[in-house]
Amino acid sequence: MKAQREKLNKDCKVVPGKMALPNQYFAGRVGSKFIISLRDSRKILGVRCPECSKVYVPPLEYCEKDMTRIAENWVELGNEGLITNYTVVNYNDRHLPRKAPYILAMIKLDKADTPLVHIVEGIEGGQVKIGMRVKAVFSDKTTNTIRDIDHFEPVQD
Ligand SMILES: [Zn+2]
Repeated sequence: MKAQREKLNKDCKVVPGKMALPNQYFAGRVGSKFIISLRDSRKILGVRCPECSKVYVPPLEYCEKDMTRIAENWVELGNEGLITNYTVVNYNDRHLPRKAPYILAMIKLDKADTPLVHIVEGIEGGQVKIGMRVKAVFSDKTTNTIRDIDHFEPVQD
């Protein structure tokens, strides 16, 4: 077996390569309603667990804490929230949504308990802070994805 493998390695030419693999998947009923609301109403929806009151955005079908089915308990969230964490992306890759550098942040919307990951613009990477207040800026053209929110930007006091 070992000898066979060694012979195969010796006789086979191996060409290293990288694959780009575009793919699509169904966002699910809950995920679809979330995206359609962004696209058609420019409203960010979450779901509230009737057991523990936790509000999830992006919405989930079941509560992570108590496994209660929460899919139809929709709540409308505002467009503003706080940055709870962030990173500055410093490399370019054609699969990334922006040219580097750009800020990718976890944003907890005001009535939500879970953060949404999105791009923050209108501020330099060195100026972004945890606790900073930001608001959603919707895209002019729909892509039928989470990118219908184009980015978040700091709210001026
Ligand atoms: Zn719950």
